Amino acid sequence: MKKVVVAEPIDEAGMKVLAGKVDIVISPDPSEESVGRLLREAHGLVVRTATKVTRSMIESAPQLEVISRTGGGLDNVDVEAATESNVVVCGVKGPQDRFVAEHAVTLLMALAKQIFYLNGEVRKGNFKSRYEYRPMGLVGKRVGLLGLGRIGKIVAEICHHLRMDVWGYDPYLSPGDLHLPGLTFAKNREEIIKASDFLSLHVPLTRETQGLIGKKEIDLMKPTAFLINTSRGEIIDEPALIQALQQRKIAGAGLDVFAKEPPETTHPFFKMENVILTPHSGALTKDAVAQLAEGAAQNTLDVLEGRKPSYSLNWDEVLHKKMKG
Ligand code: NAD
Repeated sequence: MKKVVVAEPIDEAGMKVLAGKVDIVISPDPSEESVGRLLREAHGLVVRTATKVTRSMIESAPQLEVISRTGGGLDNVDVEAATESNVVVCGVKGPQDRFVAEHAVTLLMALAKQIFYLNGEVRKGNFKSRYEYRPMGLVGKRVGLLGLGRIGKIVAEICHHLRMDVWGYDPYLSPGDLHLPGLTFAKNREEIIKASDFLSLHVPLTRETQGLIGKKEIDLMKPTAFLINTSRGEIIDEPALIQALQQRKIAGAGLDVFAKEPPETTHPFFKMENVILTPHSGALTKDAVAQLAEGAAQNTLDVLEGRKPSYSLNWDEVLHKKMKG
């Protein structure tokens, strides 16, 4: 039987898919050292978010055929190194899309309505906080979406139903590709950053998008604007955001993802009243977690048995290389 390393605990539904079909090896922790050691004899690897799959791990695993993630973002895997070693990198898209979109809109609404601040004040006995008139109406407020893929599109749809003014920008799409009622397709990134009351990020983490929102971009934002990130922490230059929030250059932020996860307990965000934080939990509804684990397990079996996985960044390239010998 082929050997599959499960680097981080996955939902039982996924374990059931693998059971009896492969020899399952559970890593004691997601560290490079532990996973890398087990990988040397493995044919497959299942990861979630905490495992960083490096070039040296891949190159020390001569039998490895597949790295399968229980999600759509594959930025924790060195895909280039995997392709060079003919290892297929695959993920699962679909079950989580709506939940992440809902999470982004929830952060947006919680910021607009100042839910966390007001909740705290009521508990402190400050009922008079109602006279601070903090909640903001959403009708006609402009939401700018960077990235109009699977999740960005759903956010656009929900915000349109909230009667917001929805703008989007995606350099890999043209207005004709999208059939989204009420969407204004911006000419460029700057236009959308400048014009938005809420800026929400829905791009994948790539070399091009790392630090996409830095000091220059934050300086373009309205001082009353909120920034929402449910994509990946490194898309924002975090020190620049911290400084902007401390200096009140923007009104606040809603963040599900961080440059380093988990963030240090001394992280400046923890002291900021104008920031709402969630622990990279946008996709983690019970239903989605089970479906993502099942999908990742099925993708692993599919690749090991020569079938195309549901979503992969390098399936065609690896297949082509293998065929060329
Ligand atoms: P997707 O691939 O369907 O869409 C991403 C879109 O971004 C594409 O249309 C692409 O053309 C566009 N894009 C790429 N570079 C861009 C740029 N420089 N400017 C503007 N647009 C650009 O991805 P998705 O499934 O919608 O996921 C979006 C993000 O959400 C990813 O970062 C993913 O990792 C993240 N995500 C987070 C969670 C969570 O739990 N918080 C869960 C799932 C996905």
